[in-house]
Amino acid sequence: MLLSIVAIVVAGIFVGTSNLRIYRANMKELKAEFLPWGEVTADERILVVAPHCDDEALACGAVIHDAVKVGARVHVLLVTNGDGYGEMVRRLERAGPKTYIRFGKKRQQETLDAMRLLGLTDQDVTFLGYPDRGISAMWLSNWTPDNLYTSRYTKCDTSPYANSFRKDAPYCGRALLADLESVILSFRPTSIYYPHPSDQHSDHWGVQCFVQQSIHELRLRPEVREGMYVVHRGDWPVPQGLHPTMRLAPPACLTKLGMEWFGYPLTKEDVALKLRAIRCYKTQLPYMGEYMYSFDRKNELFSTYVPVEIPFIRAAQNSDTEAVWESVTPAMLDPVGDSVKVGFMSRGGDIRAVKCYCDEQNVHVRVELANLHSKRLDYGVSVFGLPDATATRIAVSLDSKGKLTGVGTAVLSGNTFDVTVPLDELGKWDALMVCADSSIEGRKIDRTAWRILLPTGIEAIRKPNPPPALDRPILRTPLAPVRKPL
Ligand SMILES: [Zn+2]
Repeated sequence: MLLSIVAIVVAGIFVGTSNLRIYRANMKELKAEFLPWGEVTADERILVVAPHCDDEALACGAVIHDAVKVGARVHVLLVTNGDGYGEMVRRLERAGPKTYIRFGKKRQQETLDAMRLLGLTDQDVTFLGYPDRGISAMWLSNWTPDNLYTSRYTKCDTSPYANSFRKDAPYCGRALLADLESVILSFRPTSIYYPHPSDQHSDHWGVQCFVQQSIHELRLRPEVREGMYVVHRGDWPVPQGLHPTMRLAPPACLTKLGMEWFGYPLTKEDVALKLRAIRCYKTQLPYMGEYMYSFDRKNELFSTYVPVEIPFIRAAQNSDTEAVWESVTPAMLDPVGDSVKVGFMSRGGDIRAVKCYCDEQNVHVRVELANLHSKRLDYGVSVFGLPDATATRIAVSLDSKGKLTGVGTAVLSGNTFDVTVPLDELGKWDALMVCADSSIEGRKIDRTAWRILLPTGIEAIRKPNPPPALDRPILRTPLAPVRKPL
């Protein structure tokens, strides 16, 4: 008993100091330099993709308003209606599905009010109607129309909202991807703003995965400009509250991962207008007002995305595995010290980097851990092929009992977790989306961002897929046609 109390107290002190350290690092970042994002111009067509009703104003309010001012076209796409917001759930303990749907409609109205204030009309806003807190599940498992996701709030597995872009939108990843691609094809954006892959909210990183896939499948890179915004990352932005003369600087843990950060400046008038826009989200303010006001600062903040190329190494050259891995540059770096703390075991679950290469037969992924692996943790690697129409999505995991799930091999050794997936199992693909994670009894300890990896030299072993043309209708036969051109 005494030992448990001591352990709890020590863990509390440890987490407390660690949080203080993160806070101080974030505060220090306020003085760091970042690059100018550049002005919005009249010929731009800006698409803002927001997971919930408020992200569009928090992250891009000034960009939207300035774009309207100079005569650029703006379209705002809401993926969910935020109908399951946590604090409301606690308050509405006896709430039934209809209450949540009513709440979703209220939040839609708040978005429309805020966007009108920034200069848009209701026709410049589209609601897709997908489930709040369900986007990552639709990305990871509820992918096809025969395996729909059911909202734990509205109890619906299709959109109950009459104004959804697709009537009765089925809650599966393929439907969301098709809707997103339809909107992009119809609106033809020159810039897309969407959540950052390292945002910690599952709907945010989930939406990012769908946008990334659409951008790749529609061959929008590099012509279309991408601005990725963070909304949720620990206690960021620091200090919280209304500080209109302070800067918005990137979370410290995301500044050393090889991404560039850019600031978009706000005038005093912009700051005042953005504050009025934030105040339109009346259902949110009582619970997270201070946090929302933290985004009304001297600048908005964006990062850019560059898909990572991975090498092709012939099998004949890779007999010395360790030497090969030595020569491979990490495809992605993950912040160290960001894992959920579960005593000393979490150190073996803290992911530091992911490396990847292909040979004639396989995709090889190495997950580097910050410390020796732990036998009490589960480790996983997901390798999803693109495009969706011809490729397969594979998840490989090794649990604490040594049980392997998925297609391929997995080996834990020292501070590495190696996964091999046979190329043939991935179907016809021309890019991969990869993510690695660690967990204990189903609870995530660490998870990397999802990144697109482009294999080089792969044409030596297989014919490249024909790229889908931009004008090609997106055919996903079990789904009803979409509603309107934008
Ligand atoms: Zn959100």
